[in-house]
Amino acid sequence: MKNASELLEFDAGHLWHPYAALRNTPARFLARSAQGTTIETADGLKLIDAVSSWWCVAHGHNCLEIVEAIRKQSEKMCHVMFGGFTHEPAIELGERLVKFLPKGLNKIFYADSGSISVECAAKMAVQYQFAKGHPEKCKLVALKGGYHGDTAGAMALSDPDGMHTLFRGIMPQHYFAERPNCRADEPWDDRDFASMEQVVAEHEGEIAAIICEPVFQGGNGMWLYNAGYLKRLRKLCDEKGILLIFDEIAAGFYRTGPRWGMEHAWGTPGAAGKDCAADVLPDIMTIGKALTGGHMTMAACVASEMVADVITNSKISAFMHGPTYMANPLACAAAIASLDLFENRDYASRVAAIEKRLRANLEPLRNLENAADVRVLGAIGCLELKAIPTSDDILRVIKETGVWLRPFCNYVYTMPPLITSESEVDRICEAIKMIGQCEPGPVCDDEFHE
Ligand code: PMP
Repeated sequence: MKNASELLEFDAGHLWHPYAALRNTPARFLARSAQGTTIETADGLKLIDAVSSWWCVAHGHNCLEIVEAIRKQSEKMCHVMFGGFTHEPAIELGERLVKFLPKGLNKIFYADSGSISVECAAKMAVQYQFAKGHPEKCKLVALKGGYHGDTAGAMALSDPDGMHTLFRGIMPQHYFAERPNCRADEPWDDRDFASMEQVVAEHEGEIAAIICEPVFQGGNGMWLYNAGYLKRLRKLCDEKGILLIFDEIAAGFYRTGPRWGMEHAWGTPGAAGKDCAADVLPDIMTIGKALTGGHMTMAACVASEMVADVITNSKISAFMHGPTYMANPLACAAAIASLDLFENRDYASRVAAIEKRLRANLEPLRNLENAADVRVLGAIGCLELKAIPTSDDILRVIKETGVWLRPFCNYVYTMPPLITSESEVDRICEAIKMIGQCEPGPVCDDEFHE
């Protein structure tokens, strides 16, 4: 058995981590176990996971119900190809999702990660337009400041000036509108839609779909915007025969308050699952992350009946995608158990309580000398700094407070598990404050500054 320092030595020499160099990275924590809100390291540190392990561990780590569902399923069948076979876990999850998702979104394509579900959404939109006799409509419009994943097709829909510019050469070229600036708590300002209208007017004949993250742009800037934008998008898409894709991978599953981010644009937020036919709905939607409560990798691209019918009734009636691990039974079992929890627990109230504590603690941080902005919605809190401290300082705060934070660029944020208690939220905010009070370091020097 290797000891902790031998394990870390091998890791640093051989294992690539997300957006990090192989060697010369800041010290890494060796995670040994994780339970509820807390990750325990090999040297006995107990850290509150204030970012839900990149926003997926909604019900907490090693959630008994989900672990048990995976175990039971593993005794019967761990995997079987979904081409030519189907199975009960996939069917049961499908039935559950049809009820759980907004009405009318009921044709499900299982994918193995969020990025892949975005790839599927883009391909589905293009295949739809092809089936409608419009092969020239093969571009999408996305928003500046957005993030949709790290595969080539998903990078191509993410912020064009963001972290993926190096790969421009292998990305399909799409069009971008300015990100909406109007905040959630301000009255909607229609001037915010002018850029999108202009992009669509200029390229109308080529556009298959518009994609956005409803009300919350996560991975590229922790930006929260007014839901009025979604209403204008729906209207524009209807007028122009363009499909609308909502990427709910980050905003979905109660992260912003109601079950779906798009619900902020509904007459009655919180109406998910009920008859919301008159509300702002996309033609295609992607979900992932919290779908399995962060216990297995799984995502889905879900289409409306209309989109699925057009594709199915065309000459190439198959949707042309098919990953090896599609509908993996273990992941389906985890997702079913996760949906049970989403349905049976009152997460809307829990998130409202978390939001209240986040506001109370983070709003005063506007007065810090290094603060540029504070943003809170649902179980999302972000302190935007003028300049980020050194990674040594960030690590020191993490160890001192027992709170795991993972700032990127100038954003020190939390998206804690939805089971996080109010006193834990207070501790998380204290750690954010301490980072906000550190001396700013030199510009982006390592992996904390992706
Ligand atoms: N879309 C959004 C909105 C996301 O936040 C993410 C992940 N941060 C993705 C897509 C990509 O998901 P994954 O990392 O599972 O590929």
